[in-house]
Amino acid sequence: MESETLDLSRICRTCKSKSSQMQSLFDEYEVSNESLHIDSMLMACSSIQVLLCPHEEYYQMGAHVSLSQVTRDDGLPSQICQVCVDQLKNAFAFKSQCERVDVSLREYVKNVKVNDIKEEEEHSDLEEE
Ligand SMILES: [Zn+2]
Repeated sequence: MESETLDLSRICRTCKSKSSQMQSLFDEYEVSNESLHIDSMLMACSSIQVLLCPHEEYYQMGAHVSLSQVTRDDGLPSQICQVCVDQLKNAFAFKSQCERVDVSLREYVKNVKVNDIKEEEEHSDLEEE
């Protein structure tokens, strides 16, 4: 089997395609009034590790290291194509929605159970009389 040659500096980290519309994995994104980094959303929605946070690393290593050197440090592509960014935004929004709804449903069920118990207690009082 021939191994394919990948141009890691030009392919998308999450689909391996080359696109003219690439964004840095470390770009910020506005999601429902929250400003998030693409790498954080990616790690929240998948089990892949995007190891470098260039913003922190940059300051640790000093200004003589350029941002592009830092972001390329783990050897993996540090850019993502527009199609994947859109999918990621949807996935992240869906994940956030599930979690929000889960919290509110659990809260609701807890309250309903509490009310049920109260009603049962009231009922049993009546039956005893
Ligand atoms: Zn892609």
